[in-house]
Amino acid sequence: MTETTKVNLLGLTQPQLEGFFESIGEKRFRAGQVMKWIHHFGVDDFEAMSNIGKALREKLRACAEIRGPEIVSQDISSDGTRKWVVRVASGSCVETVYIPQAGRGTLCVSSQAGCSLDCSFCSTGKQGFNSDLTAAEIIGQVWIANKSFGTVPAKIDRAITNVVMMGMGEPLMNFDNVVAAMQIMMDDLGYGISKRKVTLSTSGVAPMIDELGKVIDVSLALSLHAPNDELRNRLVPINRKYPLAVVLDACKRYISRLGEKRVLTVEYTLLKDVNDQPEHAAQMVELLRDVPCKINLIPFNPFPFSGYERPSNNAIRRFQDLLHQAGHNVTVRTTRGDDIDAACGQLVGQVMDRTRRSERHIAVRQLGDEAAPSASAANRT
Ligand code: SF4
Repeated sequence: MTETTKVNLLGLTQPQLEGFFESIGEKRFRAGQVMKWIHHFGVDDFEAMSNIGKALREKLRACAEIRGPEIVSQDISSDGTRKWVVRVASGSCVETVYIPQAGRGTLCVSSQAGCSLDCSFCSTGKQGFNSDLTAAEIIGQVWIANKSFGTVPAKIDRAITNVVMMGMGEPLMNFDNVVAAMQIMMDDLGYGISKRKVTLSTSGVAPMIDELGKVIDVSLALSLHAPNDELRNRLVPINRKYPLAVVLDACKRYISRLGEKRVLTVEYTLLKDVNDQPEHAAQMVELLRDVPCKINLIPFNPFPFSGYERPSNNAIRRFQDLLHQAGHNVTVRTTRGDDIDAACGQLVGQVMDRTRRSERHIAVRQLGDEAAPSASAANRT
């Protein structure tokens, strides 16, 4: 077997890893041992796996590897926010952001390099689509972040308590790899994160929301951004294919399958004079009347040539109050990581300076509080 055909064990779920060991004539229980070494302890060298005999270590070295994405840069903000730029196999760079808050730490993970959905306020969308990330490249972002905190064994003083698939890309357009990575996040042999604390955010790929419900029970967030089809067709073009009624029905089906009083997170980027008016709040109240949800308002963070502006604080408060008065649980996302340019819409220049890559390879992201920071995103998904 040549170097290029080695199997990357980083992105394999437990059943896949068991299948791998069987395929090389070894016992399935080896999968659990190796997963712990990889994900609990951040090990990437078979030699360090002390409970695995020398012969098997050599066999593994010959046919397998543990390889995460290449770290291009890592920054830590004075407020504790951390940002990684990593290069994936296609040569593109994507970003991962960690946001510490009281009692929890949320990691925002990318699923694609670029995005094909072209939401009008999103810098990632403007870059076009470059590549799907592999499962190893997706879980590799968690692996890298976890290692940066000192490879704590699972469940002990864990720095990463929540993961949100809200980075660059539309996760449901890279379904199999995203699902595999989320399964590893929730597996006790992986990162042991509760299903309630792993959130997939979608712009509304309705049929895939139903598919998701058949295979996993993570939390779901919908990037709404407009309370009527006419406006949403302009802001989130996939709405022309899957209009609001279709998307919200799919979300309701997904949430009702989860039971346990779980709700949809609705994300709404506030754009000055575009979707931030009282009539938009009223339409939103009507639209979400029978949707169990909480709402996360995201004041737009301008980036060059976006053509949009951030609403005034008064307009943001007014919008929030109108939703509150209608009985909704509403939070307003705050910007974090300003000093490392990890805040909303601040990343393009930095990444370009560091990597000299073309703009279409650059992720732009916003950060949030709530259970839902977003990357290339919060202006986005
Ligand atoms: S907002 Fe999300 S789905 Fe829309 S273009 Fe940006 S990354 Fe893609």
